[in-house]
Amino acid sequence: MVDGDSTRSVRAGRPEAEQHAPGLPGPTFASHFHLAGEVAGPYTYGRDTNPTWTLLEDAISELEGGGLTTVFSSGMAAVSAAMMSLVSSGDTVVMPDDCYQTSRALRDRLESYGVTVRMAPTAGNAQLNEVRGARLVWLETPSNPGLDVCDIARIAAAAHEAGALVAVDNTLATPLGQRALDLGADLAVASDTKSLTGHGDVLLGHVTTRDEALAQAVRTWRKTVGAIPGPMEAWLAHRSLATLALRLDRQTANALALATALRGHPLLSGLRYPGLADDPAHVLAAKQMSRFGCVVSFALPSQDAADRFLGALRLVTEATSFGSVTSTAERRARWGGDAVPPGFIRFSCGIEDTDDLIADVLQALDTAGR
Ligand SMILES: *Cc1c(COP(=O)(O)O)cnc(C)c1O
Repeated sequence: MVDGDSTRSVRAGRPEAEQHAPGLPGPTFASHFHLAGEVAGPYTYGRDTNPTWTLLEDAISELEGGGLTTVFSSGMAAVSAAMMSLVSSGDTVVMPDDCYQTSRALRDRLESYGVTVRMAPTAGNAQLNEVRGARLVWLETPSNPGLDVCDIARIAAAAHEAGALVAVDNTLATPLGQRALDLGADLAVASDTKSLTGHGDVLLGHVTTRDEALAQAVRTWRKTVGAIPGPMEAWLAHRSLATLALRLDRQTANALALATALRGHPLLSGLRYPGLADDPAHVLAAKQMSRFGCVVSFALPSQDAADRFLGALRLVTEATSFGSVTSTAERRARWGGDAVPPGFIRFSCGIEDTDDLIADVLQALDTAGR
């Protein structure tokens, strides 16, 4: 019998019960560990390994369905580690042109190192046409902030046939929403700043792979560039994992209820939520995802209307990022860099009571429409 997601997340990475020991050992603060004589692991120097990371890495590996996890100081540290440690001058990387904008910003850096970068949209599995001759195919599904979805298993099969590795930025889904490795990816990468830790108080990232050599390359990269999480952040993240399934269940229920309530609203266009039965991504999302995430996106007619909407919300904080227990929303175009209209809202559902959240959004839309 396989345990359910809540059972797994509450137990993940916690050591066997031991008399008088805590359920989850506190953070180990150490820049170095006692090390007499010859150099031997597991714990030598704090940039290389730390027992608090080990417990968190084991936990995330369990949730990913098995593998070797390396945790990083942020999502971007994980993204850049996966890209930079696996490609060299002369290689080709295929990226989604609608992925998280800072991941896309790595393009210039890669090209300056002699790597060719080819871009294609997430929607319609357009990256399939670019896999020939690639070393690494980077997927982000659902994409942030457009919420398009691509077929991981299908693209992974084509990429593998072409001799390429496949990495999936799984930030939006989390391992309890989508098992990227089971679907055929070589690497599952994520910003754990978002839904995985879910309290808006930690920056963290991870890379998980079932390939020993790839894991070693990623680990060596972390040691070399020093993009390591603090023990306190790693411990907080592990503590947060216990409620991951609970949080996701409420957040995704809120997101579906919100998207359903907003369908056909006269002020809105471009409503997207992969869990909505008539969303263009739904059929594919339902095939590969078990939870559709906490983000709903839609557009108001103008920047002004969007700002009025955000200003009228009572329960929803105007803030960037997503995945927190508190609902947040932002006018995404204020940052520049994403191909979205001026009134585009990325809305992240928290764990508030569904009726309260929807009532608040509807009253704010009334205000915005006046
Ligand atoms: C936020 C985000 C990142 C970057 O993560 P940080 O923790 O902010 O460094 C990468 N990918 C996606 C899809 C994200 O949403």
